[in-house]
Amino acid sequence: MSDVLRVQWTIIPRTAPQPWLTCSRCGEPRRFRSSDKIRVNANGKRVDAWLIYKCTCCGSTWNRPILERRQVQTIEPDFLTSLRTSDSMLTRRFAFDVEGLRRRAGRVEEFDDALVIRNVLSESTMPTRQLEILCSVPEPVGLRVDRMLANELQLSRSRVQSLAKIGELVAFPPGSHLRRAVRDGMRLVIDLPGYSGWPAIRAR
Ligand SMILES: [Zn+2]
Repeated sequence: MSDVLRVQWTIIPRTAPQPWLTCSRCGEPRRFRSSDKIRVNANGKRVDAWLIYKCTCCGSTWNRPILERRQVQTIEPDFLTSLRTSDSMLTRRFAFDVEGLRRRAGRVEEFDDALVIRNVLSESTMPTRQLEILCSVPEPVGLRVDRMLANELQLSRSRVQSLAKIGELVAFPPGSHLRRAVRDGMRLVIDLPGYSGWPAIRAR
């Protein structure tokens, strides 16, 4: 054992990214939110499917293409059933696919509200001096690294920045930026001698 506490944090976004689109009814750019409903249209042997978004001001809809003029026999039957029933796992997967959304919508807003599920990977000897966090991010999330650390470790954001400045907080891979969103596989190593929050980090 060493004096390093190793943990894994899984970061689950709560709010799906929202595109900004010119709403035909409002007459100006508005945020649109996924309705978690999929519309499927079968025309002969061709199938179209859209995820329906709604203007957050007036409720007007925008159809985000999922399938376009696809031959029905090339579609997995289970997938087609999930589309027709607006299966919640599937709608979530599409709603959180920020890259796919950007290709359709241009400007997309991401949100930083997220659930952080903590797991201890290996215990340390006492007193603990260093925390190593392995970040697991199954879906892209807008949560900045410095904000996440401040929230979860109960430190001020300026303390987090100053730890980084003096080299007591190091992010891997090299070049990772604390002011940017946390990414899958990121590893954060923080020296925290004398820190009083260790029991809280182990507790969840
Ligand atoms: Zn509108």
